[in-house]
Amino acid sequence: MNRALTFPWRSDKVHPSDPSFDMNGLQTILSFDVEEHDRIEAAAHLQVDPALKAHYAQRLTPSTIWLLDQLDNFGIKATFFVVGQIARTHPRLVKDIAQRGHEVGSHSWDHRRVHLHTRDSFRQDLRQSRDAIEQVTGQRVQGYRAPTFSIVTQNAWALDLLVEEGFAYDSSIFPVRHDRYGVPNAPRAPFRAAGFEHEILEIPPATLRFWGLNLPVGGGGYFRLFPLALLRAALRQIATGLKPTVAMLYFHPWEFDPQQERLPLGRLSSFRTYVGIGRSRARLVQLMTGLRYVRAAEVAKHLDQHWNVLPAYAVAREPLANEDIEHAPDDVLSAGWEGQPRLSEASVS
Ligand SMILES: [Zn+2]
Repeated sequence: MNRALTFPWRSDKVHPSDPSFDMNGLQTILSFDVEEHDRIEAAAHLQVDPALKAHYAQRLTPSTIWLLDQLDNFGIKATFFVVGQIARTHPRLVKDIAQRGHEVGSHSWDHRRVHLHTRDSFRQDLRQSRDAIEQVTGQRVQGYRAPTFSIVTQNAWALDLLVEEGFAYDSSIFPVRHDRYGVPNAPRAPFRAAGFEHEILEIPPATLRFWGLNLPVGGGGYFRLFPLALLRAALRQIATGLKPTVAMLYFHPWEFDPQQERLPLGRLSSFRTYVGIGRSRARLVQLMTGLRYVRAAEVAKHLDQHWNVLPAYAVAREPLANEDIEHAPDDVLSAGWEGQPRLSEASVS
């Protein structure tokens, strides 16, 4: 192998606020998934103590208000994907988000991952969440983000339902290889995501292409763990090498609340969850300078006018690796699979 190992972030010494950083029309979306801290995937198996649950429900308001105040300071309009139940439990907060000029999208009704839904229950979930949010904000919900980016090849029917339920765009497909989510070969820039019957605009979270892999640097642990230069390198790649030049970043209010109580997680989960939480506020503020920020709904409106030139990608037909098929739990395969030979056996005959 002669391929030189190069680190894209090494050559990226220019901060986005530096005028020499050529943004080439880069449009960046700051998105926030609004949920109580104990809803995270890492805590899905935990029985969280009611007092701790109450603590997180209470912390959600000040940590979100902190975000809103920073966004006001910098004159940035962002996109908040809100869990529908939060619109019921924290209506004043959700209303405040909308009244300060931000977009409010849906982050499901109760943060159940899409792979735990049937088509019918997913449709119900979409409606219940959208209705609760719209009642509070008085504005139409246009965007959807699945809990834990849980739209994958096996449940690509969810894309059809989003179209049928009138959503303008989705932001649930992470083009990475990961143990819990991801459609590794999906485009890294906005694209037309095809389910079985319909197409919807997909705005995937930003990734850094490095050594043949897409690294999920657009938020989460990557944002907190690695130098900001990694994210800047991704923004530069997107600005200069991808079309449309849109970077979707994602965060959660709890990531900016270093004072909160910790969840009783195992060592690895605890590391992934809390790494760098003490510096995340300063980092976000740094990020807010020098980039051009837009709401996802505006990007969707703009791209809708250029629909025919957007790349299309069949999420429902993403080739599955053999091991994915072997290990896919029964509930993600269609009913017709029961009692039929495994694909690997079937294909040798
Ligand atoms: Zn979430």
